[in-house]
Amino acid sequence: MSRSVLITGGSRGIGLAIARRLEAAGDRVAVTYRTGEPPEGLLAVECDITDAAQVDAAFRKVEAEHGPVEVLIANAGVTRDALLLRMSEGDFASVLDTNLTGAFRVVKRATRGMLRAKKGRVVLISSAVALRGESGQANYAASKAGLVGLARSVARELGSRGITCNVVAPGLTETAMSSGLSDEQRANLVEQIPLARLASPEEIAAAVAFLASEEAGYITGAVVPVDGGAGMGH
Ligand code: NDP
Repeated sequence: MSRSVLITGGSRGIGLAIARRLEAAGDRVAVTYRTGEPPEGLLAVECDITDAAQVDAAFRKVEAEHGPVEVLIANAGVTRDALLLRMSEGDFASVLDTNLTGAFRVVKRATRGMLRAKKGRVVLISSAVALRGESGQANYAASKAGLVGLARSVARELGSRGITCNVVAPGLTETAMSSGLSDEQRANLVEQIPLARLASPEEIAAAVAFLASEEAGYITGAVVPVDGGAGMGH
């Protein structure tokens, strides 16, 4: 069955891996991109998720090409790390605006069509850091923890309308976001992971694809860690 799928931040990293996987399964996949080149072979719409007008315009384009969005993956995210005493209010607010309010903007816009269709799948990409916190990431961890409250509220509000909303919480994954780590930082982090390595973007995409599938129809409000066992299920 081919569904209209939209993935935010789908031009690289985890978002692109999700896009490729769902496309290979036969879905009509659209991605948003902001900077850089749009990925080949996918419907790519330019969109900065901090701007509600751009979000609306992106959805209109996707609706015109692929029909109303049936599966939304809110994946776009940023970090702006600093220790608390050095973290400016701007650093805090901008990460929240992208990671949490950005997800709110796209979920709100997507559910309009899903309510009409009386079905839908929403998956929010959080982080293992949401559940355990991380030194230097108060803004990022707060934004990613906020996604859990957002997802569970949406799950309660819209469950009776056939819409599920779940969270995937990846551990450290091999993408541009983790490429800035020093060898020492990487070794320290890997030491805390029972599977003793980072995740591949494809491994995150596999969990997302399941939660987005028809088969996951009785799962909502769940937080699924894909973290090599680092959180032991939390
Ligand atoms: P990348 O940095 O490789 O990709 C992030 C994506 O988000 C890019 O496509 C980027 O677009 C997009 N994006 C950022 N800000 C905005 C914005 N304002 N509007 C629209 N798009 C935006 O990161 P990953 O693939 O690693 O991360 C994907 C998600 O997974 C993020 O939410 C991240 O927090 C989460 N995650 C990542 C982990 C990791 O170790 N990599 C671990 C846990 C969670 P652009 O190209 O324009 O910058």
